Amino acid sequence: MDRRKFLKLSAGAGAFALLQMTGVSCKGPGGGMVIQQSLPFKADVLEPYISEQTVLIHYGKHHAGYVKKLNGLIKGTAYADLSIEEIIQKTYGNAGETDIFNNAAQVFNHTFYWHSMKQGGGGEPSGIIAEKIKADFGSFYAFKKAFTSAALSQFGSGWAWLVQDGDTLKILKTSNADTPIAQGLIPLLTIDVWEHAYYLDYQNRRADYIETYLAHLVNWEFAQANLAG
Ligand code: MN
Repeated sequence: MDRRKFLKLSAGAGAFALLQMTGVSCKGPGGGMVIQQSLPFKADVLEPYISEQTVLIHYGKHHAGYVKKLNGLIKGTAYADLSIEEIIQKTYGNAGETDIFNNAAQVFNHTFYWHSMKQGGGGEPSGIIAEKIKADFGSFYAFKKAFTSAALSQFGSGWAWLVQDGDTLKILKTSNADTPIAQGLIPLLTIDVWEHAYYLDYQNRRADYIETYLAHLVNWEFAQANLAG
């Protein structure tokens, strides 16, 4: 999909309307400095699955660090007047702008990650998202297997995603800061598989973290609200 078509689609799509509604969008068009959106929950509510300490360090040091770095990089440039999504799309693949892309994408990815989880989440979804998963993966079990496999096999740092590509749901894994919105895909759900997301609670046991995320944390209402069309 070309960028113009994508921007047109995203303007009317569930994902971006919701991002703005829920405050996931970190910066409006012409919005100046990037702000770090508040967590959508209190830092201790994901316990015992993700500790308050992990959330506080992850949000307060890692996520905050990307926001601070990005603001330093875009200050006084044309990027200061663009939304996060536009910065990501304009810098994607530009060798001289890797730093801006990486920090902008990490701001988006982290904000999206916090909204992908909730207290009392996880398990099987219901409603339209459940029907879409069954139609596109065959079963919830097959979805779980594909999502787990992507999150587990991402070598080194990165993310696993449930995305919408046209009318079809797909699983995607991205490396480092890479993000589906750079590729014209609509993200529905993500898990951060950088070690900082789970090391304090799970050490090297990434598989346990992924299983716990699916069983106890996924915010299916968020995923469903991001569905477009
Ligand atoms: Mn992270």
